[in-house]
Amino acid sequence: MTTVILMGPPGAGKGTHAELLAGRLGVPVISTGDIFRAQVAEGTDLGRTAQRYLDAGEYVPDEVTNAMVRERLAAADCRPGFLLDGYPRTLEQAAVLDEVLGGQGRGLVAAVILRVDQEALVARLLRRAEIEHRSDDTEDVIRRRLQVYGDQTVPLINLYDERGLLREVDGSGEIHEVRQRVLNVAFDLTPAE
Ligand code: ADP
Repeated sequence: MTTVILMGPPGAGKGTHAELLAGRLGVPVISTGDIFRAQVAEGTDLGRTAQRYLDAGEYVPDEVTNAMVRERLAAADCRPGFLLDGYPRTLEQAAVLDEVLGGQGRGLVAAVILRVDQEALVARLLRRAEIEHRSDDTEDVIRRRLQVYGDQTVPLINLYDERGLLREVDGSGEIHEVRQRVLNVAFDLTPAE
C-alpha cells in the first residue's frame, strides 16, 4: 500500500505533477483544492461554505476539511493507497491523517515536498491568473496564501522530516525538468518487483 503526501507552497506545481507521481505509484490523487473547487462549481452546501475561504486565500476550517477527507479516503479506490495533494496543511489535519491511517493499519510512505522560492511562486501564480482566472490568483490573495502556508503548513515539514519521511524535490525551472525529478522520486518509492 502506497500512501504519499505531496506538499509545497501555492504555485509549486503540486497539481501539475500529482497525476504523474500517482500514476507511477498506481494510486489515485486526492486533491482537496480540486474537491473544494468542484463543490463550489456544483453549488453544494460544502461548496458554499468553502467558497469564502478559497476566495480570501484562507484555509477552510479543519473540521470541514477533515470530515471531507475522512469520507474520501474510505472509498474503495483508496484501498491500494493514495496520493494526497494539498492535505494535510495544518498540524490538526496531520493528526487526523495519522488516526485514519492507523485505523486502516498503515502508515505514510513519504512526504514529497516541492521547493520553489517565494518570488518565483508569485510570478508563476500571476501568470496562471491570466490563463485560468482562478478567483484566488490575484496578487493580494496570492501573498495571503503564501503567508498562511508559512504560518500553518511549514511546521508540518519538520514533523515529517523528524519521522524520516521527507523527500525534497527542487520545483524550480521548467516543467519537464521538475517532471524528471518527480519521476526519480517515484522510482525510489516503487517497491522492486
Ligand atoms: P494552492 O496550493 O495553490 O493554494 P489548492 O488548489 O491546493 O491551491 O487549494 C486552494 C484552496 O483550497 C486553498 O487556498 C484553501 O482555501 C483550500 N484548501 C485546499 N486544501 C486545503 C486543506 N487541506 N485545508 C484547508 N483548506 C484547503
